[in-house]
Amino acid sequence: MRLAAGTLLSVVVPCFDEEAVIGETHSRLVATLEAVPDLDFECVYVDDGSRDATLETLRNLHRADARVRVLALSRNFGHEIAVTAGLKCAAGDAVVLIDADLQDPPEIIPEMLERWRCGTDVAYGMRTERDGETRFKRWTAGVFYRLLNRLADIPIPLDTGSFRLMDRKVVDAFLAMPERDRFTRAMVPWIGFRQEPVPYRRAARAAGETKYPFGKMLRLAIDGILSFSLAPLRLATWLGFLASGLALAGIAYVLVLRLLTAAWVSGWASLLVAVLFLGGVQLICLGILGAYLGRIYGEVKRRPLYLVKERLGFPPTGRRAMRDEPMED
Ligand code: UDP
Ligand code: MG
Repeated sequence: MRLAAGTLLSVVVPCFDEEAVIGETHSRLVATLEAVPDLDFECVYVDDGSRDATLETLRNLHRADARVRVLALSRNFGHEIAVTAGLKCAAGDAVVLIDADLQDPPEIIPEMLERWRCGTDVAYGMRTERDGETRFKRWTAGVFYRLLNRLADIPIPLDTGSFRLMDRKVVDAFLAMPERDRFTRAMVPWIGFRQEPVPYRRAARAAGETKYPFGKMLRLAIDGILSFSLAPLRLATWLGFLASGLALAGIAYVLVLRLLTAAWVSGWASLLVAVLFLGGVQLICLGILGAYLGRIYGEVKRRPLYLVKERLGFPPTGRRAMRDEPMED
């Protein structure tokens, strides 16, 4: 593989409580990237408010290796925001996003680079198998992606996480998307250009625990649907039609009984059921409206996406300084 001389690759690694694995991650990244001819690279580690010794470990890595850049956020902002912060500081002609826990094998990066060299703008990792994840997690992930794909207006590739290589123009487009609720794996397909999958086998976590317990996964899933689809709002309308239809049928039934036969529809039970049903439908619709309204509220506050407490290894001048204007941090 030959790249233009002086090609710079940035690798962005979000880290939250990853002290157990980050050293090994770095050595595997370096070993892989040094083997690629004509490639300069930098590793941008984003410490997302870790509570363990991750930041200290990253400082040591930076002392030992000038290609290590460290961006420490002021607190835990979550994976998606950490990724955005890292992308904003990355100076590369292409940028790779990779998890710190070695579930995404760095050894796939040369293949992504090869695709990029051949003109692909986004080479995204597609998991063919997943080791070390529970059946439940795999099943819920499968259901979610299929649902999201049906609801969203753009096709979102299945079995794809954040592991991907992006060309500079895609990174710039991504950073120009100002929304607060960020959902990388759907925002990047939205950008377009030439995107191709690179199949890989997803390993088990090298060490440490998942930072995505079920509750957080569920929130991420809801975020994804609300960000990329207005279908829940349409659902509210359909529920309204359904309730009205049932009510009309009920009215017809009661009238027919009253006028054509001697029978009555009697009893408070049917009344109560009808009232409860309507109340339920209305509350559900209010809840859906509220979910969108809350997101609008979050957007209009226009708070910075994240705050930085420490930067190590970033040169203050040059094109990075132009890109890294102090809008967000
Ligand atoms: N992560 C982060 N902030 C968070 C949660 C996770 O930066 O609040 C990082 C984490 O260190 C890892 C990546 O995001 O590098 C993916 O997290 P994890 O491996 O826990 O998720 P899973 O692979 O289990 O879905
Ligand atoms: Mg993981």
